[in-house]
Amino acid sequence: MQECMKKLGIVWFKTDLRLHDNETLATAIQECEQVLPVYCFDEALLEEKQLGFKRTSAIRLQFLLETLKDLDQQLREKGSGLMVLKGKPEEELPKLAKMYGATKVFAKREVCFEEKQIDALVEKALWKEQCVFETYSTSTMYNASDLPFSIKNIPDVFTTFRKRVEHESEVRAIATTPSNIKSPTIKPLALPSMDDLGYVSINSDERSAFPFKGGETNALNRLQHYLFGTHHIKNYKETRNELIGLDYSSKFSAWLANGSLSPKMVYHQVKNYEQLFGGNESTYWLVFELLWRDFFRFAFKKHQAKLFHYQGIASQPIPKSTLNQTKVEQWINGKTGDAFVDANMIELKTTGFMSNRGRQNVASFFIHELEQDWRYGAAYFEQQLIDYDPCSNWGNWAYLAGVGHDPRAGRKFDTEKQAATYDKNKLYRQLWLSKTN
Ligand SMILES: Cc1cc2nc3c(=O)[nH]c(=O)nc-3n(C[C@H](O)[C@H](O)[C@H](O)COP(=O)(O)OP(=O)(O)OC[C@H]3O[C@@H](n4cnc5c(N)ncnc54)[C@H](O)[C@@H]3O)c2cc1C
Repeated sequence: MQECMKKLGIVWFKTDLRLHDNETLATAIQECEQVLPVYCFDEALLEEKQLGFKRTSAIRLQFLLETLKDLDQQLREKGSGLMVLKGKPEEELPKLAKMYGATKVFAKREVCFEEKQIDALVEKALWKEQCVFETYSTSTMYNASDLPFSIKNIPDVFTTFRKRVEHESEVRAIATTPSNIKSPTIKPLALPSMDDLGYVSINSDERSAFPFKGGETNALNRLQHYLFGTHHIKNYKETRNELIGLDYSSKFSAWLANGSLSPKMVYHQVKNYEQLFGGNESTYWLVFELLWRDFFRFAFKKHQAKLFHYQGIASQPIPKSTLNQTKVEQWINGKTGDAFVDANMIELKTTGFMSNRGRQNVASFFIHELEQDWRYGAAYFEQQLIDYDPCSNWGNWAYLAGVGHDPRAGRKFDTEKQAATYDKNKLYRQLWLSKTN
């Protein structure tokens, strides 16, 4: 047992698995004599099923384990380390706080319903140990309190939101990366293996558009590569709808989703890039897409659990849809008979990644052609995506189902026309359909 420190703060890492631009960590270091960085592995969550799908696939779990390993290494280089707890945070964190005499637990502020419920339980349990729970907003580019409207008045139409934010708000400066962290002695990292968690490791598929590894180090390398290393950002707007390869889009999403990359960091690096090499429509467009990401987060803050419901935020009731298990399985396994949809679904199943163009098409097909309940499609994406993020995923699905933030009420894509435009030479379809999967 550790001696009781005069002022020790626990930093509870969740989906903010980084040292750069991490206000939670920076504040804890500033306020406390010692900080104890922890991650809580709730294995029960891995077993839980939602609409018949697992909460995570082996691919995303592997990415998370790589990320935690990297985070531990980064912390150790600064004199600290990562302690991994197993169990429910509302049970484990108060025990730890008591053991170390911690006065405060610092954590990321949540926007989604389930995560907020867990935070409320943690706060209540910590209170009994006379330990304060304090949260910081670290997952968006713009801070919620800098928006030109209150959360309840956030426009439901993206363009209205974007125009006001672009003109009336500013992205804050990034929080400094700590150079030194004082912590009690932390034992070597004890991460469960894939096997311990009942999962089988997956080898990367050579055709994958996302063959990268998890962790802040890889995230920052990728940022450097896409901007200053290769200048791919200069053509982003022209290439972002392509389907094959590493550089047609930034591929920042998986690191952004688990917080090993900060969206504010991306923003400021794009601004640096523009200063050095000049801006164009493409450099603007990357920030524009990050604003979509922010928009969905703020939308969940405003509408809470509604965007997980069949009816979403639609004002008119939408027709009921049935669930045909055979059709759902054909869609998942790339056996619908629509080659463009099938190729995309096989890419997702094999690698955990799919381009934005692909996601729009397969989701539209599931909703409008197969006429299935959109929430099952969203739940499969939740299980499967390496970059799964509740707000971006459920927000985009609700949008395509016509129960979210789309003034045009439901977007139906003509998949044959889309294939002819975006996969003119059929290379993408050949890539994923030619091999037995
Ligand atoms: C049905 C559906 C489900 C989706 N689910 C997710 C998800 O779970 N997680 C996720 O990160 N993205 C999701 N997206 C958005 C988008 O497809 C991915 O962010 C993008 O394809 C990731 O590749 P990239 O990082 O190379 O993107 P880039 O084109 O390089 O874009 C840069 C960043 O902008 C953000 N972004 C881009 N497009 C969107 C968008 N439509 N909505 C919100 N943010 C966006 C992402 O953070 C992305 O990393 C979904 C889109 C659809 C249509």
